[in-house]
Amino acid sequence: MSDLSIATQFVHAGERRNAPAGVPASTPIYATSSFIYERVEDMDRIVEGEVNDFVYSRYGNPTVAALEEAMAAIEHGKFAYAYGSGMAALHAALLACELSNGSVVLASQDLYGSTLELLYTVFGAFGVKTATDDFTDIAALRAKAFELKPRVLICETLSNPLLKVCDLEECAEIAREVGAKLIVDNTFATPYLCRPLDLGADFVVHSATKYLGGHADATGGVVIAKEDFDKPALLGALTLAGGVLSPWEAHSILRGIKTLGLRMEKQCSNAERLAAQLQKQPQIDEVIYPKFFEGTHGKALDDSFHGSEFGAIVTIRLKEDTREGSYRFLNALNLCTRATSVGDLFTGVVHPATATHRELSPAKRAKLGITEGLIRISVGIEDVNDIIADIEQALATCGEVAVNVAAA
Ligand code: PLP
Repeated sequence: MSDLSIATQFVHAGERRNAPAGVPASTPIYATSSFIYERVEDMDRIVEGEVNDFVYSRYGNPTVAALEEAMAAIEHGKFAYAYGSGMAALHAALLACELSNGSVVLASQDLYGSTLELLYTVFGAFGVKTATDDFTDIAALRAKAFELKPRVLICETLSNPLLKVCDLEECAEIAREVGAKLIVDNTFATPYLCRPLDLGADFVVHSATKYLGGHADATGGVVIAKEDFDKPALLGALTLAGGVLSPWEAHSILRGIKTLGLRMEKQCSNAERLAAQLQKQPQIDEVIYPKFFEGTHGKALDDSFHGSEFGAIVTIRLKEDTREGSYRFLNALNLCTRATSVGDLFTGVVHPATATHRELSPAKRAKLGITEGLIRISVGIEDVNDIIADIEQALATCGEVAVNVAAA
């Protein structure tokens, strides 16, 4: 190296050292776009698929692969691929279902708004038709599936912000009966509460930006598949559409997953305490929390969720069901953050009508039950007494008499 010119040394000095003999205790961040081999034939065998290794990070990166391996294990899948965001993961899962001009997607009416927009605008432009339905009404869903013969059924384990739970085993059965794939977005429940592949789903999708990462410092998405035969389609969606996850983000998400169990345990118990406490508040008309669900909705929860925990999101409907009342409440919060995301380790509160569901018309919002007084609380790991105290002092700014105003 010392006989080379200084400009050349700047480029190569210290690079490409041998890997250490000891295995790193934590997966290193492989911040490299490509991998260099002694012999070109070695690279050729990898590109050909004869040897499983890395050549170019769009086709695979060791840090990202570690996250993918973790997610496949945790969600009981055959394999997983990681993407640059939850939306990129949803896009890939849908692409893997080989949708074409005239194909029908039957989507839950309660899907995250951008997922519906993805279906309507991006896939719609290629002739894919999207119909929506209430996935908690299984009989009606079955009838609609037999009528429309969809290629894909897509829903979420816990819907946003009304926390609806559909019976995933029934949805999987319907998908099988009509020859469709079932995609389940498990972002809100996480594998701590529910593993949709065990219940018959074909693909599970996550916005890893939420609970998996958990610290509001990484954006990413993952698709986990039940069967190996879906691998080429999902890999194609990754390498050709190109929405790959960076190794930096993969590292943050992988680190987040290590504490997912601890965080979910604490966040679910905090949410349960908060929900019970909020039921006593005179300013609140309705506390939506899965523990309180009854009837078929409660049965779906029992069938789909692993036990006695009900998630870490509590949604409330203020008696003063107006935008003004909601904004007054939100602005009075001191500890809880006014944040659009969910699943962070701090408590985040959002006004769905002007955030997650802003793009919908007032009539559509009203039909879905997204009224102006609806507030979604993503409960964090703080001391629950501090969360309760902050929310109660903010509620004191709201009226105790029912006031309803149609969406502005
Ligand atoms: N799925 C659900 C249920 C979400 O709430 C979101 C985002 O809020 C997404 C997918 C999209 O995830 P991302 O923002 O990581 O693209």
